[in-house]
Amino acid sequence: MNQGLMPTADAVYKLIQELNRLPGIGPKSAQRLAYHLLRVPEEQAKLLAEAILSVKQKTKLCSVCFNVADSDLCPICHSDQRDRGKICIVEQPQDILALEHTGIYKGLYHVLHGAISPTEGIGTDDIRIKELLNRLQGNSVDEVILATNPTLEGEATAMYLNKLISPLVIRITRLARGLPFGTELEYADDVTLTRAIEGRQEF
Ligand code: ZN
Repeated sequence: MNQGLMPTADAVYKLIQELNRLPGIGPKSAQRLAYHLLRVPEEQAKLLAEAILSVKQKTKLCSVCFNVADSDLCPICHSDQRDRGKICIVEQPQDILALEHTGIYKGLYHVLHGAISPTEGIGTDDIRIKELLNRLQGNSVDEVILATNPTLEGEATAMYLNKLISPLVIRITRLARGLPFGTELEYADDVTLTRAIEGRQEF
């Protein structure tokens, strides 16, 4: 956005600035959204504002897996339909959403809230590794699935965790690579499909 005169109301300018701070929203998109919101009924704008406030004020982290939750336990940890012998380790809570969308996985999760990244100064103590170890020591878990992202940080984190937890867990697995070109989803194994969904890109 150009410095200097802003040819609109203060409130619109502020909204554009805030929207522009969101990931994936450039100045043009921010302007488009701001003017869109200016036009919608007040009730709709209110619902959006309240939804934004609610995620800050009414959510907490699950005391077991650190997924986002309404109360002490997230819906997955609370459910009696899940296989408690499996823990899938993900970097972020939104990874759970993607994996759940496949409907394939029926175990529990553990959210690290990040990945080890020396360049960003994120060390092993900065993500929920200690909590994972406590969890594995106190429960009989027969499989841990390392579902960190297929990035340098994700791979480094998976390798570190593998070494760390191998004395505690019978089986440690890593999500398979994405679907090879030309593969039909129908014939892909579940893990490959899950990885493919996780690594999907905008068209
Ligand atoms: Zn949970």
